Amino acid sequence: MELTDDVASKKNPPPIEPRNKVDLLGMDREMMAAYFIEIGEKPFRATQMMKWIHQMGVSDFDEMTNLSKALREKLKPLAYIRTPKIIAEQYSEDGTIKWLLEVDQKNAVEAVFIPEKNRGTLCISSQVGCALECSFCSTGQQGFNRNLENWEIAAQMWAANKALGCKPKEERRISNVVFMGMGEPLLNVKHTFPVARILMDDFAYGLSKRRVTISTAGVVPAIDKIKAELDVSLAISLHAPNNALRDELVPINKKYPLEVLIPSLYRYVEGGHSKKHVTIEYVMLDQVNDRVEHAHELVVLLGELPCKVNLIPFNPFPNTDYTRSSNNAIHRFRAILEEGGLNVTVRKTRGEDIDAACGQLAGKVSDRTKRTVHHVEFDATARHDVLNVLKGVP
Ligand code: SF4
Repeated sequence: MELTDDVASKKNPPPIEPRNKVDLLGMDREMMAAYFIEIGEKPFRATQMMKWIHQMGVSDFDEMTNLSKALREKLKPLAYIRTPKIIAEQYSEDGTIKWLLEVDQKNAVEAVFIPEKNRGTLCISSQVGCALECSFCSTGQQGFNRNLENWEIAAQMWAANKALGCKPKEERRISNVVFMGMGEPLLNVKHTFPVARILMDDFAYGLSKRRVTISTAGVVPAIDKIKAELDVSLAISLHAPNNALRDELVPINKKYPLEVLIPSLYRYVEGGHSKKHVTIEYVMLDQVNDRVEHAHELVVLLGELPCKVNLIPFNPFPNTDYTRSSNNAIHRFRAILEEGGLNVTVRKTRGEDIDAACGQLAGKVSDRTKRTVHHVEFDATARHDVLNVLKGVP
């Protein structure tokens, strides 16, 4: 990423003020360059620092040997690289690994690594819990506590590489990252966008935009923001072909119904390269959204939208009334979509034995405030941001 003129032209940095230490782990390159300018250093230090943190997995300034000793000593009282604590690690029979990362003294979030033959995908979380209450999702039943900060999101990638024993500079075991863990990333764009930039930055993880995917339940204004500010892949948790059913399964549909959501997806792909498309996620729930008529409705709904449909066999969790569609129902559904000209895949369930499969992440959410009572209990700014989006406040 190029530095903005604004950042690059700051020639007379202000004197250093005493303050709390700044965390460098979640800064994208532009933020990092601005920080070094602010402390009276050259902006190119940002690329050096990003390489050390993200490509080499280094968190101790003393190990950063191409920084002068004077700079290392200068940084120590000012900044740090807060490394996350993994408090639990579980291995699935199929090779999937789930980590529980402590983000504060009361809460923990989950990240999942899914190894496949030609790639390794890391699924990361963007919030502690989730306010959207999708009825088929374990996270949605946990309530919402707070947005994760930049460093807490970036920390999942950093910690996963450490736990896998690899330095991304030398060996890339994580080739894809999906924001599909706990939380709705587009209700936390302030902190997810910088991390997406870090993931795609050649001086950090260097993943291509095809390999970084933000998944949303349909926060339409933020989909337009992705189009304007961040060139990543987009997945939509659709799960229903009409408003009545989607209101029930994905309640944010009441705020952004299909007649608002679908046009935003056309806007997202508009003017992009020929292969630009949206991934449509559709969980297969027995006798709920898997009938023949639902498949036909979905073909009509998606129309000419450049997309791939990913059918996800439902993964059960405690106290849910839903069950997984039969294999026959999934095959029948797929056949109808394909006859309608859609490109369809059926997701292979991974990590089910360790509750790491799609929709099963629960983490550890203290203060499980439900969205329905947020309007009387929220007072923190981040919580207001989330609530305001749900209310439609611009
Ligand atoms: S599916 Fe996603 S948006 Fe819906 S409740 Fe679960 S985590 Fe939240």
